[in-house]
Order: sequence, then structure tokens, then C-alpha cells
Amino acid sequence: MIQPFSLAIHGGAGTLVKGQMTFEKETAYKKALELALDEGFALLKEGASAVDAVEKSVALLENSPLFNAGKGSVFTAHGTHEMDAAIMNGKTLDAGAVSLIHGIKNPIALARDVMEKSDHIFLAGEGAMEFAKSLKYSLEDASYFYDEFRYQQWQEIKGTDSFQLDHSVKKESKFGTVGAVACDQHGNLAAATSTGGMTNKRFGRVGDSPMIGVGNYANNKTCAVSCTGSGEFFIKGVVAYDVSCLMEYKGLSVSDAASEVINKRLLEIGGDGGLIAVDIHGNIATPFNTEGMYRGSRTSYGERKIFIYGE
Ligand code: ASP
Repeated sequence: MIQPFSLAIHGGAGTLVKGQMTFEKETAYKKALELALDEGFALLKEGASAVDAVEKSVALLENSPLFNAGKGSVFTAHGTHEMDAAIMNGKTLDAGAVSLIHGIKNPIALARDVMEKSDHIFLAGEGAMEFAKSLKYSLEDASYFYDEFRYQQWQEIKGTDSFQLDHSVKKESKFGTVGAVACDQHGNLAAATSTGGMTNKRFGRVGDSPMIGVGNYANNKTCAVSCTGSGEFFIKGVVAYDVSCLMEYKGLSVSDAASEVINKRLLEIGGDGGLIAVDIHGNIATPFNTEGMYRGSRTSYGERKIFIYGE
């Protein structure tokens, strides 16, 4: 029997504050979200796996300069781009992650290759690049990742000790990490997340996004989760796994568990951001404690939503 299926995506909890959002910008964001949502959902409809769907949606978001992942990745303190990504299969608990990689057009594809073509789960830096080379990945040059707005964003804080997260409501906040979660027709879950991290980041900083159980997690017993927000706080809160634990050990629904973590536990430790989550029945939760979160969702019941601020 075909069971309900659904997909949710996000483009980060770092939306422009409402006053700075123009009609043109909003239209561009929504168009990019729609494309990623509809193409990923089309795969689910054809019977493809949740893993295929989340990879597809995230790759499309990585190809857009609007979000802080792949092409739109922010500048590091050295004027380079370092990207992190993770993918997880809820049926097998297999996972793949990469961090501190550069030049790769679709980090999520490399994360999937780590999951499926290596004996490991997490490859970082030059080792991850060596692995990519062994699989004949081609490297994009710096101009592919150049974005004038990103560059100016970096110029403002270059040479200082500060770094900038994409979801500060106080600043004119920028773009965001991207992610997707899916429940497929076969009752399997998957999650994928990809990011350029923080502007002006140094010292090989890695955030929550590629960390299994923190920024990304999937388990058929409970849910699939992809996070966006102040990475250091998400790491302290082990956010994605916490949502899963509340469902598994306390019997909470996906929406109650996700809301408890984002609107209570994360806030209590000073973190801001949001997440998308889906359970095995295709129920979706998209809580955030910031002004907005670029997001979209589609279900086999015919629901299709794209939102930036509150619903
Ligand atoms: N969570 C990401 C990080 O800390 C940033 C984001 O979601 O925008 O690297």
C-alpha cells in the first residue's frame, strides 16, 4: 500500500527583516524555494527514495546564489569559501558528511558519496577533497562562488575578530543554510543539510549543519530533521537528535517535539533559529524562533506551502 509522502525544505532562518524585504526579492526567494520543493516532490511522486528527494532539493538550493550554501556560500576570513553538508537515511541510519570543503558545486552530492561509497561517515578538509578527487569531482573556480553582496558582507567585518551568522535579527540579516526532509511512499525518512557557515569564520570553524544528530538527523523510528540557526547553540543543544528523543522516549508528536526544542530548550540556552522535521506519517513541523525562515512543504494530501515569515 502506498503510504502518505511529503517533503519540506528550508533556505535558512536568516531572512531579511520584514522592512527590508522588497517585492522583487521576495519573489526571487519564493521562486527558488518553489523549484527545489517541486522537483524534490516530483521524485517522491514517482516513487523515488526520500534520500533521492532530499538530495535533489538541496542541490537545487545550493545552485541558487540566494542561499548560504554551494554557489551562495559566504566568505571566510581568508576570502575563501568553506562548505559543510550532511545527509542521512532514516531506514538504515547510514549517514555521510563533509566539512571545510571548497570548489565543489554540490557539497550534498559529496556527502552522499561519503555515505554510499566510503566506509566512513564524516570526512573533513583536505581529506574530503582527496576523496572527491578520487571520484573525479571537478572543481569550480572562485568566480563561480563570487557574489557581490556576499563580498560586501565580508568587507564590513574583514580583518576584525567578529563573524556573522546569517540569522541575526538585529543585523540586516542575509541568507541561510539550506535543508530538506522527506518521507517517501515506502515509509522511509531522510534529511539533508548544506551550508557555507558564517561570514568571516576562522580557525576551521565547523557549525552544526554537517554534524549528525545536531543539524541533521533521520531515523525511521521517529523523524527526519534539518536545522538552521546559531550553530554553536545547536551543537550545545544536540538539537536534531533532541527532537527525535522527545518523540522516541516521551511519545511527543513531531510538531510538539520540534516546538519544544526550538521555542523552549534552544531559547533557554540563548540559541536562535529553526528547523524542519517530518515523521513517518508525512506530518511536517517547521518551527523557528527568528523573525522568519525561508521554507516550503508539500504533501501527498495536496497541501503546498511556501512561506518566509509567519503563516
Ligand atoms: N547553522 C549554520 C552554522 O552555524 C548557519 C545557518 O543556519 O545559517 O553554520
